[in-house]
Amino acid sequence: VLGETISALLDECKSDLASVVGVGLATPGPLSLREGRIIHAANLPGWRDVPIREALANPLGLPVVLENDGNAAAFGEHVAGAGLGCQHLVVLTLGTGVGAGVIVDGRILHGHFDNAAELGHMIVVVDGLPCPCGQRGCLERYSSADAIVRRSLGTAAVRERGRNVSPPLVGGAQAGAIPQTAAEVADGAEKGDTLCAQVWDDACKYLAVACVNIQHAFNPQRILLAGGLSLAGDMLLDPVQRHLHAQAWKLHTDLPEIALAKLGSDAGVIGAAALAFRSLPSPA
Ligand SMILES: [Zn+2]
Repeated sequence: VLGETISALLDECKSDLASVVGVGLATPGPLSLREGRIIHAANLPGWRDVPIREALANPLGLPVVLENDGNAAAFGEHVAGAGLGCQHLVVLTLGTGVGAGVIVDGRILHGHFDNAAELGHMIVVVDGLPCPCGQRGCLERYSSADAIVRRSLGTAAVRERGRNVSPPLVGGAQAGAIPQTAAEVADGAEKGDTLCAQVWDDACKYLAVACVNIQHAFNPQRILLAGGLSLAGDMLLDPVQRHLHAQAWKLHTDLPEIALAKLGSDAGVIGAAALAFRSLPSPA
């Protein structure tokens, strides 16, 4: 299937394999970068222990660079997006989960086991909500689009039961409508729906806690917020910054700038391609 996709892409670009110098591949992890192997791609059913680098490199006869998708997206923003010029950068991709990548001294941080920067599984609540990864209280159970919807549906039940005691609802498509997506929760919060505002603000608060922890671990110049939730723009940035300033230490003024990513879903593709280029031997 990957081979067919590559052929279709080459056709679309009116190009052929002879003009390709290498392949950059960004996939969900965990990975073994040394072995070029996907250990377990949680969102790709059946993708366990797949030697993906060899599987592509052998038939194509081209060098293949494998990278975790969160890392590739961070590298994309670093070389061509909102992290341009930042040698120390963290990117949080807020979608169905929370993906992440950490750039230290202009290079992707991989760690000893190749799985550094799994910041979506940073524990922000001790004994908190269970996560499919096996831990409890992971960031992505509180600050991802899925988490916001889950939380909102939870409060919708509360809303039904406590309609008489809750403040009147004005947000959403109609008064009292139950938001079904994170965008609808953001919309409701903006229009003054108290419960939507509470759910949204909580997600921003946990994200700010993560940013404080990130600041202490990596001391980045900038933390970029990417993914579906970042489409909320200032609705996301403003409360995260407010909570960050309230919760961060007061011993130093080295707080990172919180900004929106620029490249959207192209970040991983651009990052993977840049990594493939960078891995080529420089011309003599
Ligand atoms: Zn987790």
